[in-house]
Amino acid sequence: MPSASASSLASILLRREILELHAYHVPDSTGYVKLDAMENPYRLPRVLCDEIAEAVASVAINRYPDPAAASLKEKIRDVIGLPPEMDILLGNGSDELIQLLAMALNKPGATLLGVEPSFVMYRMIATFVGMRYVGVPLGVDFSLDLPRILVAIKREQPALVFLAYPNNPTGNLFSAEAVAQIIEASPGLVVVDEAYYAFASDSFLPRLAHYPNLLVMRTFSKLGMAGLRLGFLAGSTAWLGQLEKLRLPYNVGVLPQLVAEKLLEHHDVLLRQAEQIKLDRANLYRQLGEIAAVQVYPSEANFLLFRIANATSVFDGLKQRGVLIKNLNGGHPMLQGCLRVTVGTPEESGQFMAALQESLCHE
Ligand code: PMP
Repeated sequence: MPSASASSLASILLRREILELHAYHVPDSTGYVKLDAMENPYRLPRVLCDEIAEAVASVAINRYPDPAAASLKEKIRDVIGLPPEMDILLGNGSDELIQLLAMALNKPGATLLGVEPSFVMYRMIATFVGMRYVGVPLGVDFSLDLPRILVAIKREQPALVFLAYPNNPTGNLFSAEAVAQIIEASPGLVVVDEAYYAFASDSFLPRLAHYPNLLVMRTFSKLGMAGLRLGFLAGSTAWLGQLEKLRLPYNVGVLPQLVAEKLLEHHDVLLRQAEQIKLDRANLYRQLGEIAAVQVYPSEANFLLFRIANATSVFDGLKQRGVLIKNLNGGHPMLQGCLRVTVGTPEESGQFMAALQESLCHE
């Protein structure tokens, strides 16, 4: 039995990168108007809730889930119109798929390349699995700096590239032409992360067959199923058949499988909500644009990024008034003075705007 304390043992035994890591912080949102995590603010119609409750009541929860989730996969194929030669791989949220990809491609010395600022989990997961990470800065307007990225690809020869399309936290949709050039120039696998596809005007899903090094990743989190934890990769069976070996056998539980399937039978309900969120986004964009102190960025996602003087004190002011958004100030230098707000219901956006106006008056 070692005599050292648990904390000294942990600091001796754990990898240095893990000891230096700051955990992904999720604040307690109890009681707040919750506009920090890009959730769909709309609830399901009552009849659909009842239908789900009935199905859940008769589920065999004493049994492991179908490890292949065959029925759910079939439904997803239908809904997204996946060609027969393509396959899908399910994840417990798309975060899990990012991890699976990093584990699979992390040969000794391999590099994961992302752009910055973008989704922080690409870098964090590279650290989790001990993979080298290279971040290439975006242009000042948050567009892809193609010449710089192409130079980085040539120099670094990344095994894995992640591009969020639309990007988080900036909200913009990169040029499809630039993304295509990155895919063509990449010696490794390129994953186009379409977490916000439901709110965007373009997708790389129809282009999967053109590129042998392309996979498209999606999540149902932003479409109204954040609580289920369900994401998927779409691409050729040659890739997904290999990656499938790394998927833990029961990574998607009985309840998420069942509920997601039911919801996808009513995909039209979710799509109508997404359309409503796009209208809500346009209204919120206009209202934010009317405040002289605010610089709001165009978005094809279900959130808006805006820049404001004294961002952290504005963020605190909103919180004191019961509205929780995301403070990006103090993180990436290009996000100095930036805050990110999820598009809520018109009522929630009204509460946010009122709290923002009040906070600005007290600046
Ligand atoms: N990709 C992007 C670009 C995201 O913004 C997020 C969530 N914030 C995810 C992936 C992960 O989503 P989930 O794990 O809920 O599927």
